[in-house]
Amino acid sequence: MLKLKNVCKYYKIDKDKKIILDNITLDFRDRELVFILGASGSGKSTLLNIIGGNLSCDSGEIWLDGECITNYSDSELDDYRSNVVSNIFQDYNLIDYMTVYDNIMLGFNDGLSKLDIDRLLKGLHIYDKRHMLVSRLSGGEKQRVAIARTLASNPDIILADEPTGALDYATGIAIMEILKRISYSRLVIVVSHDNYLASRYATRIINIKDGKCNYEELHGNHMIKSNLIKKNNKRIMIIKLAIKNLWLKKIRTIFTAFAISLGIISMSLVVNLYSNFNGEIDELESNIVSVFPITISNGEYLNDEAVEESKNDKIIIKDKNKYAYTNKISTKYLEYLQSIKEISYFSYHYDISLPLISDSYKTIDNKYLKILPSTQYIDDNYDILYGRNISTENEILLKVDINNNVDSEILNSFNINTDINYVSVVGRKIKIIANDDYYIKNGNYYVVSNDNNSMYQKSIIELTIVGIIREKEENDNNNYLYCLEGIITSLIELNSRSNIVKDELHSDYNVLGNNLDRDKLLAYLGYQTLPNMINIYVDNLENKDKVIKKLDEYNAQNDKLIYVDTMAGAIDIVRQFIMMITIVLVLFSIVTITISSLMTGILTNIRVLEQKKAIGIFRSLGASKSNIRQLFNLENMFIGTISLIIGILIINLIDQPINNIIDNYMGIGNIFVIRYDLVFLVFIINMLIIKISGLIPAIKASQMDIVKCIYNR
Ligand code: ADP
Ligand code: MG
Repeated sequence: MLKLKNVCKYYKIDKDKKIILDNITLDFRDRELVFILGASGSGKSTLLNIIGGNLSCDSGEIWLDGECITNYSDSELDDYRSNVVSNIFQDYNLIDYMTVYDNIMLGFNDGLSKLDIDRLLKGLHIYDKRHMLVSRLSGGEKQRVAIARTLASNPDIILADEPTGALDYATGIAIMEILKRISYSRLVIVVSHDNYLASRYATRIINIKDGKCNYEELHGNHMIKSNLIKKNNKRIMIIKLAIKNLWLKKIRTIFTAFAISLGIISMSLVVNLYSNFNGEIDELESNIVSVFPITISNGEYLNDEAVEESKNDKIIIKDKNKYAYTNKISTKYLEYLQSIKEISYFSYHYDISLPLISDSYKTIDNKYLKILPSTQYIDDNYDILYGRNISTENEILLKVDINNNVDSEILNSFNINTDINYVSVVGRKIKIIANDDYYIKNGNYYVVSNDNNSMYQKSIIELTIVGIIREKEENDNNNYLYCLEGIITSLIELNSRSNIVKDELHSDYNVLGNNLDRDKLLAYLGYQTLPNMINIYVDNLENKDKVIKKLDEYNAQNDKLIYVDTMAGAIDIVRQFIMMITIVLVLFSIVTITISSLMTGILTNIRVLEQKKAIGIFRSLGASKSNIRQLFNLENMFIGTISLIIGILIINLIDQPINNIIDNYMGIGNIFVIRYDLVFLVFIINMLIIKISGLIPAIKASQMDIVKCIYNR
């Protein structure tokens, strides 16, 4: 039995207290049809909302079957709204964009079966329309849907606020007939100002005026109703509602998801690049370590770091003696290097007189003759396109570039002027001209012979091209004729005993008549010559570290020789490039994530305002505050999931172009490999951000006043 004891309700308007309900005490039976009559503004709806648990009273108590609902907690009140009472309104308060069936299911409690619902729909003559959108129904049909929704929750008490107010007379009668039938098994309280309907249908009439009530007994009470076990289950409804809401605003949903996906994409790019590039660079290093040598060469090095910086427009004298350092490769150093077992091979460069003449009697620039570290070096790093690798000192290889191009200068010296087959080059010869054939004594001085033909005939140092080679991976696009070091040492030996060297050793002037000092001239002519540049090749990074340590050890104890690590320079450029990309992407991520969290917050807020009425209806049907929060959370989670799908699609589209760009600039392919575990991690983080951004509007929605939402006050 429902009882109201001394219930008071007032509103504060400006500073005045306006009393709406003044000390109301009422009794309701378990099964009857009670009408509450009163003028507009007399407080009928207020009274009904207090009974419905949508509004709290300022004093007094409401009792139900010996329990005081005035002291109910929030969740008990949710249960009360969900299971005990149910509302019917003048303007139906259905959710227009949902079907009849879905609206009814909003009120559904587990106590009823689907069959019961179908029976209900048939009984109310709306079974045929169950799949129609509510917005397309007539007023009478809408009110019958509202009644069906009410009955679907199988409540003990039905509260109807002017249920016929918006309907014509005949339809109103039909609705009242339904309510009367219902009142045989439960308490129905109808608010109305229609005296005729009240006298025709009510068991009792409560008149309300100036905040006071009085009874008017009319008919007796009804049959006994069976009690059903009820359980509130709003979960499925919430999922349905969330999907509906998003589907209804498809474009906005997709747009929001797209904006959020930008955050996912940029974050994924960052983590993927970051996780891949270190490994990739290590691999790159070990791949190219055998190609990029450590170089030691004679000459001056300037220590720029030690140079003083200018202040106050002052010119500073840069004293080379102070900052410059001169490398001088010595026999001792050479021997030391040869003792380092981690070095796989050396390549030397000599700054000596090295005249070359081809078998067409043409001069070849000696920059094209390059000393190989070893024949193994060719096997490791080159493809032999034609012919074979060198096996003796008298053989050479022609290195073409990655596109099989060869400088015209080289080919012209062999009298080759058109494109040719490999076979026409293999077998061609060049000769190195030793001092005695090259320099002709003329009085006290020597001059250079210009008779290529006879020099070629006389020279005994003959080299034959035996193969054509190309780098496996392009590192140097220059062309060379590769020879072994032995041929150069043979030349040096030969030249050390040459006439020009002997004469220079015994004279006190420069026998070539140029301005080189004696030591430099002798070195140039090949007398006791040491290489002026050494390239050291190692197999792997580990050995490289060891070699560098040994070079440092030597430098600590002897005259220091500055070495240049050519690979470190190349790798540094790659690292800097990747670092730059990463920084740009991190900034982009921060911007996109900020935007997506702002958007989530703002759009959730908009949805809350848009769905204010639906929230009110939902709450009055017994949805809890947390149900409302769940609804908006769920919507955001759906959007987040869509954004993940969009994100993955876009990442898959852009990963190849990104790899191509990096490959083009840096020569490292596939640095960007999508790792779905990382993408998923990013997704989780993003979901958290979305959830947090949507939290405040969702909480706001759940805290909204039910009555204000429903009546749009
Ligand atoms: P009715 O009998 O027409 O259904 P109501 O119960 O809706 O009347 O309202 C009773 C009175 O209380 C009206 O004068 C209305 O203006 C006032 N009222 C209702 N809600 C509020 C509110 N939130 N703030 C101030 N006054 C209110
Ligand atoms: Mg009213």
